[in-house]
Amino acid sequence: MPSSSVSTDGCRTRFAAGVVHRIAILILVTLSWKLSIQPEQQACSAEKFRGANIIVIFADDLGYGDLGCYGSPTIRTPHLDQMAREGLRFTDFYSAAEVCTPSRAALLTGRYPIRNGMCGPRRVLFPNSKGGLPTREVTIADALRDQGYATAHIGKWHLGIHAGSRPLDQGFEHSFGLPYSNDMDARADLPKGSTGSPTPPEDGWNVPLLRDGKIVEQPTDQTTLTRRYTDEAVKFIAEKKDRPFFLYFAHTFPHVPLFASPAFKGKSRAGIYGDAVEELDGSVGRVLAALRHEGIAESTFVFFTSDNGPWLIMGNQGGSAGLLRDGKGSTWEGGMRVPGIAWWPGRIQPGVTNDRTSAMDLFATALALGGAPFPQDTTIDGRDLSPLLLHGQSLPDVPFFYYRGDKLAACRIGDWKAHFFTQTGYGQPKPDIHEPPLLFHLGVDASEKRNVAADHPDVIARIQAAVQAHQSGVVPGEPQLD
Ligand code: MG
Repeated sequence: MPSSSVSTDGCRTRFAAGVVHRIAILILVTLSWKLSIQPEQQACSAEKFRGANIIVIFADDLGYGDLGCYGSPTIRTPHLDQMAREGLRFTDFYSAAEVCTPSRAALLTGRYPIRNGMCGPRRVLFPNSKGGLPTREVTIADALRDQGYATAHIGKWHLGIHAGSRPLDQGFEHSFGLPYSNDMDARADLPKGSTGSPTPPEDGWNVPLLRDGKIVEQPTDQTTLTRRYTDEAVKFIAEKKDRPFFLYFAHTFPHVPLFASPAFKGKSRAGIYGDAVEELDGSVGRVLAALRHEGIAESTFVFFTSDNGPWLIMGNQGGSAGLLRDGKGSTWEGGMRVPGIAWWPGRIQPGVTNDRTSAMDLFATALALGGAPFPQDTTIDGRDLSPLLLHGQSLPDVPFFYYRGDKLAACRIGDWKAHFFTQTGYGQPKPDIHEPPLLFHLGVDASEKRNVAADHPDVIARIQAAVQAHQSGVVPGEPQLD
């Protein structure tokens, strides 16, 4: 018995060793197989979803602190909050510029506006500006239309009113909205202060409403504008549900003068600004409901963001950047860090990301999802976010450059941000030049209150090197705003 027992134990031991050996081989084979296919799977991540519908919803002058899901205690945004709960909420998402025109140009082209001249001392395009988005620029709409997408622009344009720069010249098959900001084309006898008034005159601005480039209303009835934009968006979704589509939905509000339709006017705790934002939230709810109703929510990528920070000089009619410093017009965080929410049921894992990303990335992401080739012979600054969106993979950090007009004002690498000059959004005629630069750590000091430059000359040197490398590769485009 003992020998048998030994023998049996020996058999068991050999058997166990054999099993362990086989399991180890199995694990190794599985691992190597996984490793060998993973890069290909990653490369195909966007490919797999080729043909997804893409909707970008773009608010105007909405601040970082103006949504419930970004901490607003007073403005109710249940639809955007739900979109954030079901999708991916970005804590460190940036517009690519501190004001409207350059920010829009960057979103649609994936490029810093310095590269195509859509920035400068005038800051934005005015009705008397001679330029606009150059025709040769490749927009998301250009690239996706070439892949068979239906394309539509709804809302504010502000990228040029002359031939070559208009929506139909920039890849959009349909267009419905205002050619520029709702405070332009003011009536000559408009009393001072009307723009930022809590009760602006409804007929104070002569801005036209255009459909496919033709005036259909002037002055535009701004009180029902958000509702009418949304009707148009819902109709477009229903009509194009059977083919891939790209919808660029750029709201007019909450840019001043502020109006809301009767269903929302006077309903918010935060005055007319809150009314306008709550109506915008209702609009997002209708768009997402339409996608569900048409049965295409799971084949549609939706991204919500804002073109720049809140217009603080408008007082109660300007929004809030929350804990961030300053607002629209400035390269402090409040001017350019904005809400960013990605939504795609069944594809995007719900959560929150701290990855530093920007509106320029939407260009690269849209092209990847649409299977469109990147434009050749042109520098694209945005990055494809699909590894982050679809696989939760963090993106490698790259420097981010903050421009005020055509001047590079600041740079962020990781959580470090250096300011070479600062200037509040509006009302400070000359910048404060910083030599050495101001340095803030946005992780521990998101409000940019404590300059720690003296303690970190190495970080400043690293940022300065990144700025030099960037600037040596930038050829400024011909100025378009003059
Ligand atoms: Mg704006």
